[in-house]
This record gives sequence, structure tokens and C-alpha cells, in this order.
Amino acid sequence: LGREDILKTMAHAYAYDEECDYLFKAVLIGDSAVGKSNLLSRFSKNEFRLDSKPTIGVEFAYRNVRVGDKLIKAQIWDTAGQERFRAITSSYYRGALGALLVYDITRRATFDNVKKWLQELKEFGCSEMVVVLVGNKSDLGHSREVDEEEGKNVAVSDGLCFMETSALDNVNVEEAFLGMINKIHQMTTRTSL
Ligand code: GDP
Repeated sequence: LGREDILKTMAHAYAYDEECDYLFKAVLIGDSAVGKSNLLSRFSKNEFRLDSKPTIGVEFAYRNVRVGDKLIKAQIWDTAGQERFRAITSSYYRGALGALLVYDITRRATFDNVKKWLQELKEFGCSEMVVVLVGNKSDLGHSREVDEEEGKNVAVSDGLCFMETSALDNVNVEEAFLGMINKIHQMTTRTSL
């Protein structure tokens, strides 16, 4: 399959749902407890959970986003705890056009593992995937272990977008998700879907 065919099959025209023009799937990846599910609940429901994850359960959330004259339904998948067991399978990545790769700026090990996640994306993800590297918990500046510059440098060398966020204070969460969605939209509409 050529690049155009891949993109066409992946950005579904959402004919059965009159409320939107396209459905995009995107995934959240990164180590356990970096804040993935709180970023997602912030983006989809504007909520922050102070307690830790109650159950392994929620697998994805939707939000409708207007881009130009199109209404896009973003379907964002959360690992729902599976990353703890390194049990994320190829079906998690299947059909995904975007990924938010999240680390915790207060835990260097989660940043060191970014390389492993990128490797996994290469193995299982679509080659055209839009990836945003996200350094979360920017509100905890006093316990920072990873400088913003380090995140930027990895992003530049791997051709990713980059942003530091705080799911707690709701800083840059919209920007991270909407940036990804806008880029996916540009990429797929360039192929005249
Ligand atoms: P996940 O395992 O990657 O989905 O991480 P969670 O969303 O469950 O968050 C793990 C822990 O980090 C929880 O105790 C959250 O309350 C906390 N957390 C998540 N995002 C932030 C943030 O932006 N700032 C702070 N200070 N804590 C956060």
C-alpha cells in the first residue's frame, strides 16, 4: 500500500454518525503513572482525579473538535494500566494516526524510557503517525529531574512535536491534543480524502 492508501483507510469518513465528518484514532503511551489518564480526562471531560486509578477499565474517550469547516471525532485510547505489564499489543496501535508519548518531568526513568516507546511505535504504529512528546507534571517544578531543553532535543532529533503540560493545573493540555489533531487533519486532507 502507498502512503495515500494507508492514510485513506485510517481516517475513516464517519458516514454512520451524522454529527461528524471524520473519526481519528489516537493513542496515549508512556510509562505507568506519568499522568496519561488524567491528561485524557482533562481533555475529554475537563476533570482531574486526585486518587489513583480505581480500576483497569476505561479504554478510550471521545471528543468532537472543529477544524476549519470539518467536525472531527477524536477517539483517544488509554492504556488503562496495561503498560505496567508491558502487555500493549499491536491491536492497541492499529489504525492510530496519532500518539501522545508522555513522560513525567519529575522521574528521569520515564524520560529514559521514551526511546523504548519510540521503538515500539516504529514496530507497531503506522509510519505516518503524528507523535507529540509530552513532559507532564510541569506544576512540580521543584522536583524536576528532566529539563525542558532535554525534552525539546529528543523531539527535534526524532521529528516529534513537544510540549510540557500539567494535567493538574490544566496547562497546555488542550494545546497538546489539539496540536496533534490539527496535524492529523492536515496530513489526511492533503491526500484529498
Ligand atoms: P497513568 O498511569 O499514566 O494513566 O497516570 P495517572 O493519570 O493515573 O496519574 C498518576 C498519578 O500522577 C496520579 O496520582 C495523578 O494524580 C498524578 N498526576 C497526573 N498528572 C499530574 C500533573 O500534571 N501534576 C501532578 N502534580 N500530578 C499529576
